Amino acid sequence: VQLAVDPQRMLADLRALAAFGQVDTGVDRRALSDIDMEARRWLVGRMEAAGLDARIDGVGNVIGKTAHARRILIGSHTDTVPNGGWLDGALGVICGLEIARCVQAQGGDVGVEVLSLSDEEGHFSALLGSRAFCDGFNAEAQGRARNAAGESLSEALDRSGLAGTAVARLDPQAHIAYLEAHIEQGPVLEVRGVEIGIVTHIVGLREYRVTFTGEANHAGTTPMSMRRDASAALLHFGARLDQACRALNGAYAVWNIGRLHSEPAASNVVSSLASCPVQFRSTEEGVLDQITAMVATQAAAAADEFDVQWSASLAVQVPVANLDPALTDQVELAAQDLQASTLRMPSGAGHDAMAFAAHLPTAMLFIPSEGGVSHSTAENSAEASLVQGLNVLARAVERISRAAQTGRTIA
Ligand SMILES: [Zn+2]
Repeated sequence: VQLAVDPQRMLADLRALAAFGQVDTGVDRRALSDIDMEARRWLVGRMEAAGLDARIDGVGNVIGKTAHARRILIGSHTDTVPNGGWLDGALGVICGLEIARCVQAQGGDVGVEVLSLSDEEGHFSALLGSRAFCDGFNAEAQGRARNAAGESLSEALDRSGLAGTAVARLDPQAHIAYLEAHIEQGPVLEVRGVEIGIVTHIVGLREYRVTFTGEANHAGTTPMSMRRDASAALLHFGARLDQACRALNGAYAVWNIGRLHSEPAASNVVSSLASCPVQFRSTEEGVLDQITAMVATQAAAAADEFDVQWSASLAVQVPVANLDPALTDQVELAAQDLQASTLRMPSGAGHDAMAFAAHLPTAMLFIPSEGGVSHSTAENSAEASLVQGLNVLARAVERISRAAQTGRTIA
């Protein structure tokens, strides 16, 4: 079945969604806020109008499905960061809605299930909805997570009328694959003039807290040779780690310090303590291991040089998510069917697809972001790109449905 997607109808829905929590040219729809819930109820209404079986589950996931026994999941999120953009997440959900609408109207053996996954952005807990869908939800333990205003997730679910509602779960018998269309949120596609990014991996992330401990002393009277300066050690550490990481030629790797802390934090006192986070990402666990080793080597060298103590503790660890090669090929072929230029690339940002990749064949596509800007009200993409994303995703659904129908394994 060739899906007769209607780009104008998709764009109209995307703009209608952007009116919920509008801030200038962007939106503010923090997960489970009143306006976020209003947008979710609007989405349920749009799904029902399309003839889908729609509901909101116990963590706020919006689920709309066709009646088929086997379904392709198409998802993303409609929550945003504070003062965020109108396309981050929304694009994938609304493309899914448009495709499901066509599948519902046109028939076929394979159905579609559209997901707006709750709290991708981590207002309470990052990837809350996709993790609950894939891995389950423990209301008691996970409900204790709090937002910046101090409200707990349990309280928010209660306020939103969701407490006690069942949480939807992945069903390997019914769910064939997970697809997500998303804006790139970076500059690569635009700079290279490519229309569609074919995502191969979502980078893994590690963050260590590195601390140097020296001795506070007078900055005027203590000879340089007798100081135990924690800040000096940290600065040398940071510069040398950066240099060492640059030698990781070829592999995709990015690293960041971003925040410095020192005590007692006075310009006339030698620091007794200095610490910083070191956060790094790569598409290869082996590279993350290498950087981990460099952190230790460089911290030890700096500590030795400045006669201070050092320690490092792991604060965050997110494994690399490998998207499915066969399903990814289908998305790339779908783009080629439509004469869209493509680039295989990793995603440097986290996405709901990460939660699904461990459980069923998962693929993602990117469309270009204007100026590479995202998590900002200035976030935008050309209308032609939005439509291109919809068309390629629909074509991928056609291809995957056909493969599933003829009994070929899609992964
Ligand atoms: Zn997103």
